[in-house]
Amino acid sequence: TSDSLDLFGKRIDPAVVRSVPVMVPLPVAGPYSYAVPEGMAVMPGSVVQVPVGPRKVIGIVWDEAGDAVDPKRLRPIEHVFDCPPVAEEMRRFIAWVSAYTLTPPGLVARMAVRAPAALEPEPMIEGLTLTGTVPERMTPARKRVLELAQDGAGWTRLGLARAAGVSSSVVETMMKQGVFDTVFLPPPPAFGTPDPDYARPTLSPDQDAAADDLRAAVAADGFNVTLIDGVTGSGKTEVYFEAVAETLARGKQVLILLPEIALTASFLDRFETRFGTRPGEWHSDLAPRMREKVWRQTAEGAIRVVAGARSALFLPFEDLGLIVVDEEHDTAYKQEDRVFYNARDMAVVRARIGGFPAVLASATPSVESQVNALAGRYRRIHLPGRFAEAALPSLKTVDLRRDPPKRGGFLSPTLLSEIDRTVGRGEQALLFLNRRGYAPLTLCRVCGHRFQCPNCSSWLVEHRFRGRLMCHHCGHGEPVPEACPECGTLDHLVACGPGVERIAEEVDQHFPEKRTIILSSDMAGGVKRLRLELEAVANGEADIIIGTQLVAKGHNFPLMTLVGVVDADIGLANGDPRAAERTFQLLAQVTGRAGRTGLASKGLIQTYQPAHPVMQAIVSGDAEAFYDREITEREKSGLPPFGRLAAVIISADNRSDAEAHARGLRAAAPVGRSISVLGPAEAPLALVRGRYRFRLLVHGSRADDIQTFLREMLENGPRQRGSVRVQLDIDPQSF
Ligand code: ADP
Ligand code: ZN
Repeated sequence: TSDSLDLFGKRIDPAVVRSVPVMVPLPVAGPYSYAVPEGMAVMPGSVVQVPVGPRKVIGIVWDEAGDAVDPKRLRPIEHVFDCPPVAEEMRRFIAWVSAYTLTPPGLVARMAVRAPAALEPEPMIEGLTLTGTVPERMTPARKRVLELAQDGAGWTRLGLARAAGVSSSVVETMMKQGVFDTVFLPPPPAFGTPDPDYARPTLSPDQDAAADDLRAAVAADGFNVTLIDGVTGSGKTEVYFEAVAETLARGKQVLILLPEIALTASFLDRFETRFGTRPGEWHSDLAPRMREKVWRQTAEGAIRVVAGARSALFLPFEDLGLIVVDEEHDTAYKQEDRVFYNARDMAVVRARIGGFPAVLASATPSVESQVNALAGRYRRIHLPGRFAEAALPSLKTVDLRRDPPKRGGFLSPTLLSEIDRTVGRGEQALLFLNRRGYAPLTLCRVCGHRFQCPNCSSWLVEHRFRGRLMCHHCGHGEPVPEACPECGTLDHLVACGPGVERIAEEVDQHFPEKRTIILSSDMAGGVKRLRLELEAVANGEADIIIGTQLVAKGHNFPLMTLVGVVDADIGLANGDPRAAERTFQLLAQVTGRAGRTGLASKGLIQTYQPAHPVMQAIVSGDAEAFYDREITEREKSGLPPFGRLAAVIISADNRSDAEAHARGLRAAAPVGRSISVLGPAEAPLALVRGRYRFRLLVHGSRADDIQTFLREMLENGPRQRGSVRVQLDIDPQSF
């Protein structure tokens, strides 16, 4: 019988306990072995509950053998969950991500499983059928209701009122008169089936050609990657929707990754307009019950399309056939916590393992993807201009040396008068500053004391609305004091530099009668409030919007015709080799919010370095020149994607332990390889949440060499003790 064969088809001695490897969601190097109780059916991929020490955890029955344990001492699997097993493709993906990021496989597996709660049936809904009693007085409205209800199928109160074109009070009155019996109807399906032909748009000739290319990529029926680029508003979404339609028509599931899904509710509406129903949604703000439902229904194949944040990559799709990564350049795709991975890159890996296409879309592709496209590893589709009449905003720099803001202000006369003209026409202006709070630094005018976070090497940011000084790294907050804690002088604290709250104050002084709104991730009310405010802006309920980078992403504000960048130089100052790329992307995206519906629009970029290549590229619209230059420089210095980097971050609750461990690791680095190690040096943020951080940077020409090198270094290096922790960041965002 099959009972005498193990998972791999090998004959086993029935006297020996049958055992299987289980990947547990813990930082262990491989699966553990468990006994399978008599009569329990498990297979590779089964989601099970097992004991680990005193705990019970959720694990995945794995493929390779677990650790060797005396079979008699194995603990049994406690429970097999009633849900589809994690597919082989997914298990290979987990193993791949683990090997690439050098993260224990259990930690990666943890992102892919959850305890599927016993699925409670959806509650039935209340419906109405006729009793035969006629209304006391017949009116035309009541007559229509009666006629509709004749079909005997059962209507909801609201459905019946709507269908009859009457107010629901008409139906309610009839209910009171005993016209209806209540019956119970099955619940409506949670997720509809998207219809690829629901509302095909008429594509522009450029879009049409692009869509043909994409459909061909999908039809090629195997792994390939396409990079779609084209300025903001060029209609990339409509084009990749055609790839989605094609995949749906082939009966496969689709995953669309978005960088800020919780804030892009408009995307879901747009999807519904095109496909007749909303996609499944996946992000960290979902209610637990909804998460449960989306997870399970994705596994069962009931959900055909998921639009999600990076973690959606680890959903157990039944039959995935396409991944789209929208805004593929976005840094939100990088997770820097537990498992350090870039969802854009891992999406490509997921597609390769699954043997299906991936589509990357961006108005400002990452240098990595540009190089892949140039090298012919990716197909490329380019959309040349904005869709329909919409023209790109005309962009200009404002040289702050020549056109300085008046004392104590941050907005130049040129920008102020442009705002005035814009709101005077009833249009909207967006002022972009990527700094939350009121002021990034507070100091004492008398003794020079600076307010620093007690747990981090960073300044406390004043949040004036809340009356607090806050750390943006650890969340530490304290009330703004009246006296300097160092010299005790009263009322001599000064705010240095601007945050969005301070810009809002300046705007209010100049335009007291205009409606201003601050869009920043830390305003009270959280995501729900932000969604409402974004909607309000789109509906024209504000004149001047002051926002951080969250406004730069994907939103469509029909009335917005001016974007003012308050300080374009912020991101260039930090010496990071990716600074130019990031600044270029951010400026192109944020100015791209203007003029999306055909109104003439402008972008004014305040800078002290108008001649900087990034500013020049933005103003001239010559993205290609920017990328050429950037690619040449990266190639010259062997920086990614021409060379590969990894960061090793060593932290401890005291500085000397962290440093000693970092030096120990450095000394254990294998020699005689074409790999160089820089450091240890203090990490860019040397102290975070009370932990001191040192960093080693490992540079090599090939990724797999780096992995081998790091593995050896960690094996030969000092044993981790005390509070020391080592984190590996392959392909770090900043270096
Ligand atoms: P991108 O993703 O390149 O920024 P979008 O796909 O958001 O551009 O398109 C920009 C705007 O043009 C959107 O408002 C979109 O609804 C509209 N649009 C694009 N293509 C079409 C089309 N073929 N028919 C009608 N409207 C379109
Ligand atoms: Zn802090």
